Amino acid sequence: MKHVTILGATGSVGRSTLDLVERAPDEFHVEALTANSDVAGLAAAARRTRARIAVIADDARYEALKEALAGSGVEAAAGASAVADAAARPADWTMAAIVGCAGLAPVMAVVERGGTVALANKEALVSAGALMTSAVAAHGATLLPVDSEHNAIFQCLEAHALERVRRIILTASGGPFRTWSREAMAVVTPEQAVKHPNWSMGAKISIDSATMMNKGLELIEAHHLFPVGTDRLEIVVHPQSVIHSMVEYVDGSVLAQLGTPDMRTPIAHSLAWPERMKTPCESLDFAKIARLDFEAPDLERFPALAVARRVVDANPAKSAILNAANEIAVGAFLERRIGFLEIVPVVEATLERYDPPVPAALEEVFTIDREARIFAQEWIEARAF
Ligand code: NAD
Ligand code: MG
Repeated sequence: MKHVTILGATGSVGRSTLDLVERAPDEFHVEALTANSDVAGLAAAARRTRARIAVIADDARYEALKEALAGSGVEAAAGASAVADAAARPADWTMAAIVGCAGLAPVMAVVERGGTVALANKEALVSAGALMTSAVAAHGATLLPVDSEHNAIFQCLEAHALERVRRIILTASGGPFRTWSREAMAVVTPEQAVKHPNWSMGAKISIDSATMMNKGLELIEAHHLFPVGTDRLEIVVHPQSVIHSMVEYVDGSVLAQLGTPDMRTPIAHSLAWPERMKTPCESLDFAKIARLDFEAPDLERFPALAVARRVVDANPAKSAILNAANEIAVGAFLERRIGFLEIVPVVEATLERYDPPVPAALEEVFTIDREARIFAQEWIEARAF
C-alpha cells in the first residue's frame, strides 16, 4: 500500500493522477488532497478516495468545504499554510501539481521531510533552482520529473551517466501558433491560445505553450534536473508530440521515449517508479502516425525561447523573475488586459528593471517572486494597453 498526497488535485494533472490512483484502490491510499478554490471538485475526490484530509487554499471557502465533507470522515482545512502543512504530512509519494510559484512552499515541505516528489509544478523548480536541488540532496528527498519531456529524459537516462551524454534534446510541439505570422498572433484571443493541438491542459500552461515560454521554463527545469551544461540542452520542434524528448550519448546513440500525448503515462511512470504499472493509455499506432516531423524553433516569432536562454546561466534570481513576470503577464492576457504579443515584453521589461542579488535562502526567492510581480504589474499598468 502506497500512501499518496496530491497537491493541486482538481487540476488537469491532479485529475489524471486521481484517475490512476482510483483504478488501483488496493495499491494506493490517499493521505491529502489540495485545491485552490474548487470546493465541489475537491470534496468529491476526497469522498471517493476516502482521503484523510482535504485542504482548500482559499481561506474564505473553509466553511463550504466543511459542509461539503460533512459526515465523510475527511478532515477539512484551509489556507496557503494548511496546504504546506498537508504536504509536510508523511506520505510515500506526493504529486506536486499546483500551478505556479504558489506550489513552491508545499514542494519544499515535501523535500524537507525527505519525501518523494513527483514534480509537474515546473514553476517551483524554475523559481528556486539550485536551492531546491541542494535541499533535495541535503534531506535525502527524491525528485521524479513528471513534465512529459523531463520524464522522457529521465527514462532515457536511467543507468547511464551524465558525463556520457553528448546532448539532451527537448521536443516542443510548437503550440497552436507554430505556423502563424507575428501579425496574426498579435490579435489572437485567450480562447484561441488555450487550444493546444495535442495536449489538454490547464489554462496557464496552455498559454505558455502558445508563446513557447513553456519550452523556456522547461529548458531551465532541465538545466536543474540534468546538469549536463546548457550548451548541451537543445530544443527541436516536433509537431506530432509523439517523441517526448531524447538523449544523445557520446557514441552517437540517440535514445527517445515515445507515447501518445496522455499525461497519465509520465504520471504512472513516477507513481510506480522504479517499477512499472498498467495504464489505460492508448498504444501508438505507427502506421497511422506514418511520419514524424522536426524543425528548428523560430526565435524571431517565439522570442520567449531566447529570453529563457539568456536567463538560464545568469544569476538564479533572474529565473525567479522570469517566472513571476510570466505568471502576471499570462494572467493579464487571460483577463484581456494585454495582447498575446505583449506577454514576453512584460517578462523582458521586468528582467531588465529588477536586478536583485543571488538568493541565498528560500525566503529571498519568495521576496524576489513577490517584488517581480509588482514590477510586472506596474509595467502593464504604465503601458495602459
Ligand atoms: P491546472 O490549472 O489545471 O490545475 C492547477 C491546480 O493547482 C488546481 O488543482 C488548482 O486548484 C491548484 N492551484 C492553483 N493555484 C493555487 C494556489 N494559489 N494555491 C494552491 N493551489 C493552487 O494546471 P495543470 O495543467 O494541471 O498544471 C499543473 C502544473 O503541472 C503546472 O505547473 C504545469 O506547468 C505542469 N504541467 C502540466 C501538464 C498538463 O498536461 N496539464 C503537463 C506538464 C506539466
Ligand atoms: Mg512539458
